[in-house]
Amino acid sequence: MTNPQLGDWSSFEELDKLQQARLPELLDAAARSPFYRTRGVPATLAEAPLTTKADLRDAYPFGLLATGREHLATYHESSGSSGAPTASYYTERDWLDLAERFARKWVGITPADMMLVRTPYALMITGHLAHAAARLRGATVVPADNRTLAMPYSRVVRVLHDLGVTLTWSLPTDTLVWAAAASAAGYRPGADFPALRALFVGGEPVSAARKARIAALWGAPVVEEYGATETGTLAGECEHGRMHLWADRAIFEVLDPATGRLAGAGRGQLVVTPLYREAMPLLRYNIEDDVEVSYVDCPCGWALPTVSVLGRTAFSVGGLTQLGLETLVFELPADLGVLFWRARPSGGRLRVEIEVAERYRTAAVAGLTAAIGRAYGVEADVVGVPPGGLVPHGLLTATSDVMKPRGLFAEGEDWDKALRYY
Ligand code: AMP
Ligand code: MG
Ligand code: ZN
Repeated sequence: MTNPQLGDWSSFEELDKLQQARLPELLDAAARSPFYRTRGVPATLAEAPLTTKADLRDAYPFGLLATGREHLATYHESSGSSGAPTASYYTERDWLDLAERFARKWVGITPADMMLVRTPYALMITGHLAHAAARLRGATVVPADNRTLAMPYSRVVRVLHDLGVTLTWSLPTDTLVWAAAASAAGYRPGADFPALRALFVGGEPVSAARKARIAALWGAPVVEEYGATETGTLAGECEHGRMHLWADRAIFEVLDPATGRLAGAGRGQLVVTPLYREAMPLLRYNIEDDVEVSYVDCPCGWALPTVSVLGRTAFSVGGLTQLGLETLVFELPADLGVLFWRARPSGGRLRVEIEVAERYRTAAVAGLTAAIGRAYGVEADVVGVPPGGLVPHGLLTATSDVMKPRGLFAEGEDWDKALRYY
């Protein structure tokens, strides 16, 4: 397997050559799985039909397995927003490719780093991905799954502060909750965490405005990445703020769902053919995210296509998009301190709730109402709710509960703790 470090991609032509050279082996590997053996593997990728999410679901659990089961290192399922389980599995060699792709951060990951991994470890790949990348580069991992009872926000703030965490990996939203939890604990996010070098974020669409706010709040750059459980990391942000597709590790195409046509660039659904997959080869896998892919020169020097991720079939309500509204919220002056919001049409009008302190309420409500009016030509009912109204104060300050089972209690002791374990 090739092992390029950052900046080794010299031109789009070389990228194409590398992809073409990998193809025969890739098609051979695919032919070893029951799914592709049954479907038939064509002589070239250009003749291959799409592999869909429905195909993956139908192949659950091991229909796409191209190796013996004894070669597997891990088994995963994706977050399952769309229902039935989708299985993914990787060998030890697949894991080297996965970890290397995640480790391609322009700020670097070094043995001196202490990295907080704040995404799930259960079933999904995300926590393991960051964990493996940090270990690969010799960094110290602080496992801090965001879906576990063992790691409430108060503990995240404590370890960020006391251990001098230098790097973090989480949903962008989680970094905002840490900021609120840090304030609740009496810390200033931008001043009391001087060791923090960068925040790695991914897993949900995030606007440039929100990224800029997160970076300003914490006084550290935000480095976005894009990927999925079925593929691992697909793209990472360069220091010029563009997300580049790791096209030396996968072939990327864009599907126009209206015509079924595939192109090398443009707007549509992202179709991925990973170049190095042992356990679960995929040919033209439609990841069903709306994206825009471009081949442009970027001052960072990486000869890799760029991608904007618009989200899963660009979630929109009556012309409004999540990213569009989010941008307006995070373009409000930072001093107003608006971090949390939600919106929903109601009786022909748009109701938007923002969490904002009393003294900034009038300004924030007026500012956002005007911005929505300018952007969308609608009059929104913007309501300022007090801090704690959207993200409960208890969530920010709660400490962890008993985690070990216990049946025997002392006289007068709260024996409901026995029930809390189950
Ligand atoms: P999962 O299948 O649970 O691993 O989640 C993967 C999905 O999360 C992707 O297909 C995208 O829809 C979404 N996602 C991940 N990273 C990003 C990102 N940086 N921007 C937008 N959406 C993302
Ligand atoms: Mg998924
Ligand atoms: Zn770049």
